[in-house]
Parts: sequence; structure tokens; C-alpha cells
Amino acid sequence: MSVSLGIPQVRGAELVPSGAGRAAGLVDRHGRRATDLRLSVIDKCNLRCTYCMPAAGLPWLPAAQLMSPAEITRIVGIAVDLLGVTELRLTGGEPLVRPDLEEIVAAVAAAHPGLPISLTTNGIGLTTRAAGLAAAGLGRINVSLDSLDADTFAALARRDRLAEVLAGAEAAAAAGLVPVKINAVLMRGVNDHEAPELLGWALGRGFALRFIEQMPLDADHGWTREHLVTAAEIRHRLGQRFRLVAHPGPRAGAPAQLWEVHPLPTATGEAGGDAALGTVGIIASVTEPFCDQCTRTRITAEGRVRSCLFSHEEVDLLGPLRAGASEAEVADRWRAAMWAKPAAHGMDRPGLGSPGYVQPERSMSAIGG
Ligand code: SAM
Repeated sequence: MSVSLGIPQVRGAELVPSGAGRAAGLVDRHGRRATDLRLSVIDKCNLRCTYCMPAAGLPWLPAAQLMSPAEITRIVGIAVDLLGVTELRLTGGEPLVRPDLEEIVAAVAAAHPGLPISLTTNGIGLTTRAAGLAAAGLGRINVSLDSLDADTFAALARRDRLAEVLAGAEAAAAAGLVPVKINAVLMRGVNDHEAPELLGWALGRGFALRFIEQMPLDADHGWTREHLVTAAEIRHRLGQRFRLVAHPGPRAGAPAQLWEVHPLPTATGEAGGDAALGTVGIIASVTEPFCDQCTRTRITAEGRVRSCLFSHEEVDLLGPLRAGASEAEVADRWRAAMWAKPAAHGMDRPGLGSPGYVQPERSMSAIGG
């Protein structure tokens, strides 16, 4: 079998890319290369967003099963040094629930100066931790915020903590963790009417807002296509207050499609002005999927590779690492997991439950969103 083309070879029961495939890093059978690592540091969260978690929470992983700061640093080292990963996003669960998050960031940043490290968080606790995280080497933050109305926020997140999230986003900006990106999920009849208000709020603060289509990754399995607020609807709602112009820049594997935001022409027909007020991103994973451009590889909080958010398979890295496997052996397992990455999630086909799409067992919080 040829080794120069990266054609898979059977090693034990696994398909492992070899030759050029190995040199190229985390390549898959469909010609994609993963360079963007999303690593979950914890499965636990202090909110219970209806589209993600059940009201009662989930059975959390015991602390001993979570990766330690040293293990996270080793796994990131394998990704960067052996597998060509160029970008790291820490996520969860809620990463700020880990008291040693600063230690994790500092250890990874010290081992990989220049590696862009960002964090996805609900922002609760950032007022006291943003400066420390920045000092530790964190570069940037995404704060999740679905509503500016305290009651709506509490209904969606099942916790009355809007003020802390807003203060957290401001604290991130003050600490220089910029650009602060805001992630918002819209739910029909709950907060979808807030889309223009959220955008006006974000633009006024210099935050980069991204709407995420709700994905069928909720622990309650309550997602329905009828309730999905689609990217087209989001653009329509925003168009009632702003003029959106497709951003000319290259998308380069980014999940969000970017739009320049301009003021609407005035009632007298006067142009709203050429200068953009900023940009807005829409992540249309369901209705306008971008699987063919995907550059992501994911590690769950207990150290398992998922090649895709919607995978049904995981490959354990932490177990072998703890049992004494070498960096090269762990890298081989990671390559094999990514080589098997499915071509697409299949969600864009009509009717969930069709052969095209089966919801994974794990919810978003347990995968690491
Ligand atoms: N707790 C952190 C936070 O709130 O950002 C990090 C983890 S959370 C799972 C990451 C992102 O996934 C959040 O922006 C959240 O809104 C989003 N998310 C969770 N469930 C989702 C779903 N079913 N569809 C779309 N986005 C979802």
C-alpha cells in the first residue's frame, strides 16, 4: 500500500493515515485538515440553558476523570508539535467553573508562546477573573448571551444571572481580551424578536455578535425543525433595523458567515451611510452547513477525540496517556480518529430521524461546544 499519498493502512483494527497523511497532520478521507482545537476543560455548567441541558443538570464527571493542567498541556503539545494544530479554544461545560483555569492557560501559553488561545464562556465570574486570565496568556473571549431582558434570560438559562453575564463581557473587554465575541442562540417565541436589539447592543460596545442556529444537541431531545430560527429568518429580522452586506473577506473555514452592518436609509430616502457600523456573524450549522470547510477537532473534558460535534464515536487519548503511551502513539490515535471524520452531519436533509441524521447521545455541554 502506498505511503506517499496518505492512504490509510490497517494498524490493529484502526485505519491510520500514513506517509504524507502523517506529515500533514489531522487530515481526513474527505480532504480536510483540522488545525483548530476545541478542548473542553469540564462538563459541568452553572446555567441550564433549555437548548443544551436538562433542568436537573447531568451526572457530572468525577474530578479524577477530568484532564489535569499538566495533561491538558501534554495533549495540546501533541496537537501543536505533532499534528499541526495552530489555534486553541477552551470550552466546556463552563470553563470558569474550574478554579484552576488560569493555571491551565498559563501552562499552555508558556509551553506554546504564540499559540492563539481563546475561551468560550457564559461570562459568570469574569469580573474577578478576566485580568488574571489575560495575564496568564489568554488572548480572546467568546461570551454567550441570548437575551438582554432579565426575565427572558432567566427563562432560557433557568438561572437569573443576566447582570453577571453583562458585567463579565465588559470585564473581558477591559482586560484586553478582544475582540470580545458574543454568541447568541435564538429560540422561536422566546428571544427571536431580540435579534436587532442584541446587534445594536453589541455594536455599541464594539463586541462582535454571532448568532448560532439552534442545533439538535440538547440533552432533552426537544429540538424540532419547525421551531428552528433559521439563518434566513435571522437576516430578515436584522434587516428590519439594519442593512446587511455580505462581507467580502474570505471565510477560511470559519463557522460564521460574516455580514457588514450598515444603517438603514432614512425615511426621506437618504442613504444610511457607507461606513459599516461593524459586522455580525451567522453560524448556520443546520440550514447552510459548512462541513466541507470544517477545520475543527474536539477533545472532551475526559480526554476523548470527537472528529465532529455530531459524532457517534470517540477515541480515548487520556487513558493511553495515563497508561504510559508516548506522544507519538497518542498522536497516531488522534490521526486515526480524525481520518474517520464523517463527510457531513446529515442534518440538512429533511426530517431528523431519517437515515441522514441521528442525534448523538451527548449534549452540547458534555461534548464541549
Ligand atoms: N458554557 C460556555 C458558554 O456558555 O459559552 C461554553 C460551553 S457552551 C456549550 C458553548 C456554546 O454552545 C454556547 O454559545 C451555547 O449557546 C452553544 N450551544 C449550546 N447548545 C446549543 C445548541 N443546541 N445549539 C446551538 N448552540 C448551542
